[in-house]
Amino acid sequence: MIVGKAKPIAFLAEQVRPYRRVAVIGCQSCMAVCLAGGDKETRVLAKALELERRVSGGSELAALPMAVKRQCELEYLEPLKSSLEGVEAIISLGCGVGVQYLVAAFPELWVVPGLDTLLVGGPVALGVWEEYCRLCGECILYLTGGICPVARCAKGLLNGPCGGAVEGRCEVNPELPCAWVLIYQRLQRFGRLDLLRQLLPPKNWQLASGCGPKKLVRQEVKE
Ligand code: SF4
Ligand code: SF4
Repeated sequence: MIVGKAKPIAFLAEQVRPYRRVAVIGCQSCMAVCLAGGDKETRVLAKALELERRVSGGSELAALPMAVKRQCELEYLEPLKSSLEGVEAIISLGCGVGVQYLVAAFPELWVVPGLDTLLVGGPVALGVWEEYCRLCGECILYLTGGICPVARCAKGLLNGPCGGAVEGRCEVNPELPCAWVLIYQRLQRFGRLDLLRQLLPPKNWQLASGCGPKKLVRQEVKE
């Protein structure tokens, strides 16, 4: 899942200061699951923005909470059209993709990101999410026992460990287990320590960032 966290209410209030009717649109997929942009967060933000406007003494604000199943697909945004009648701006509680799909679907409206899109990962404890993948475009988990050194080693080492781990904790961030210790333990458990003996070549980072946006075309499903 994609994980995000809310931008401060004061910041968002400032962003929509010129407007009197603003839609706050949540996303019921990743951002709902990470408690950043679900129904509850959307309603709370809308109410907070209205209160802020009242307290700050500006023109009255109508902040309308709405939700869609996924902001990152136009077909889910289409039905919003009638609810956006008279709306001047949108605060998106979707990830950065959702924000940009809203821009594409409603080009006449000003769209503000209500969240910071942080990582691709998952929950590891109540209220704690960790990054598990950097979207490098060439997955090497088959060589590392299913543990990603690109995302989970603080130095992103492909040929670890760096030698600095102390009692299995990362020398850069002792809160985290050393990813390469985890990789070693897992390869050992499966009798695959041979995998550690092969040196991995430098990664082709063009696959991760490339020239402009990455693109996937699947001919078999293309119209
Ligand atoms: S190797 Fe690349 S694609 Fe695979 S989990 Fe790590 S960052 Fe993601
Ligand atoms: S201690 Fe382990 S996780 Fe931390 S930087 Fe070194 S190899 Fe990577």
